[in-house]
Amino acid sequence: MASVALKSFTGLRQSSPEKPHFVTQTKATPNPQFRRRFYVSAAKTSPKIAGRNLRVAVVGGGPAGGSAAETLAKGGVETFLFERKLDNCKPCGGAIPLCMVGEFDLPLDLIDRRVTKMKMISPSNVAVDIGQTLKPHEYIGMVRREVLDAYLRERAAENGANVINGLVMKLDIPKERNSPYVLHYTSYDGKKGGVGEKKTLEVDAVIGADGANSRVAKAIDAGDYDYAIAFQERIKIPDDKMVYYENLAEMYVGDDVSPDFYGWVFPKCDHVAVGTGTVTHKADIKKFQIATRNRARDKISGGKIIRVEAHPIPEHPRPRRLAGRVALVGDAAGYVTKCSGEGIYFAAKSGRMCAEAIVEGSENGKRMVEESDLRKYLEKWDKTYWPTYKVLDVLQKVFYRSNPAREAFVEMCADEYVQKMTFDSYLYKRVVPGNPLEDLKLAVNTIGSLVRANALSREMDKVSL
Ligand SMILES: Cc1cc2nc3c(=O)[nH]c(=O)nc-3n(C[C@H](O)[C@H](O)[C@H](O)COP(=O)(O)OP(=O)(O)OC[C@H]3O[C@@H](n4cnc5c(N)ncnc54)[C@H](O)[C@@H]3O)c2cc1C
Repeated sequence: MASVALKSFTGLRQSSPEKPHFVTQTKATPNPQFRRRFYVSAAKTSPKIAGRNLRVAVVGGGPAGGSAAETLAKGGVETFLFERKLDNCKPCGGAIPLCMVGEFDLPLDLIDRRVTKMKMISPSNVAVDIGQTLKPHEYIGMVRREVLDAYLRERAAENGANVINGLVMKLDIPKERNSPYVLHYTSYDGKKGGVGEKKTLEVDAVIGADGANSRVAKAIDAGDYDYAIAFQERIKIPDDKMVYYENLAEMYVGDDVSPDFYGWVFPKCDHVAVGTGTVTHKADIKKFQIATRNRARDKISGGKIIRVEAHPIPEHPRPRRLAGRVALVGDAAGYVTKCSGEGIYFAAKSGRMCAEAIVEGSENGKRMVEESDLRKYLEKWDKTYWPTYKVLDVLQKVFYRSNPAREAFVEMCADEYVQKMTFDSYLYKRVVPGNPLEDLKLAVNTIGSLVRANALSREMDKVSL
């Protein structure tokens, strides 16, 4: 049985205990009933910057870094975006929700495939089609990360960010208030053959968008998180087989493909991405990958593996996501949802939110920022997304724990109400208010599915004895 712990949102307000700078003021009012009421307002105590604008380094040019850098540059901040590999091809399924296309103004030609059908396939290979409730304009976007990330970085540059092809090695934390942070990096700008030049850069604040193995997180002693290892093969399948995956993705569940996650086949421009992940049995990841490929074998036979990739996926936020004028976003902070393993949208969104807090706190780059300015991003983030993370935590605990539970889960997915709720929550990233009667029916059906699946499993055990 998968032992996925239901972690609390551990990062919540565990930044360094610097006190926010507030003043209280009594506002004169003619009405005596209001006379004793205090109005608390933040007063900026940080100094104005003379002769230049606030300087912020964004370390990592994935979706988190690209969108952070764009927002900072647009907001008048002198922005330095570091990416160690400008043609980086992040191992990733590349599925993005519809709302990301609109919110981040993504051009439609960035989307390789528009998935409108999802097949959920149970441990006993019962397939349930989901997607019937989608409206004509709704879809899950499938992107290649090398394309999406490059686009976001270029857009940041067009808006004034300095994109540096460099590997950040070390971050010196200042001892004095308002003194600069110093980044030590190897610059590859204009270099060929992989030999870089050692350089340093002084900045006023840092956004750590450098993914799951974040060096910025280490520099601020942000603590570790549990992680899944995800494995993926990009497989070029014959054209006639590709037709089947035109606008269809598959999710496989079962002990064979993963004890605590799911296996997937996602369509890309001219190939499919086949993968799986696990937190609890990392040493067996290749065995799970073979099982995923086997489950899909009829549909991908004749295919040629063109790329093999693996990468950690964080399981929950780091104990600390902020220290002084350094904040973590995206995978560096640990913003991937359980159950679905989704992180692209949350990376881009957290990058943008953090940058907005800096732009606002610095009054468009004119003032120094303080930890309390950056903390506003964390507060907003936790308030907005905490329920989403919690719901998916619980779903994973209930439905990915055993094969009978997974059978029940797939059976439940046939329900139109479940499909609508799931798709609406995924596509639009909002916790959808339910219909009380349908919720009750769903609860009864869920219990029924679990009971049936457990009874079936007991009968199967007897047969195999
Ligand atoms: C196999 C797999 C499949 C996945 N499938 C999906 C999916 O279908 N949908 C989804 O939403 N999510 C998926 N995810 C999760 C998703 O990939 C991440 O959540 C997302 O990439 C996080 O974005 P990020 O910008 O925070 O970090 P990253 O995308 O990891 O970007 C970090 C960037 O920083 C750069 N960098 C790192 N260190 C340094 C340094 N020291 N100096 C300079 N640059 C540095 C890296 O080169 C990289 O470009 C998947 C993950 C895996 C592993």
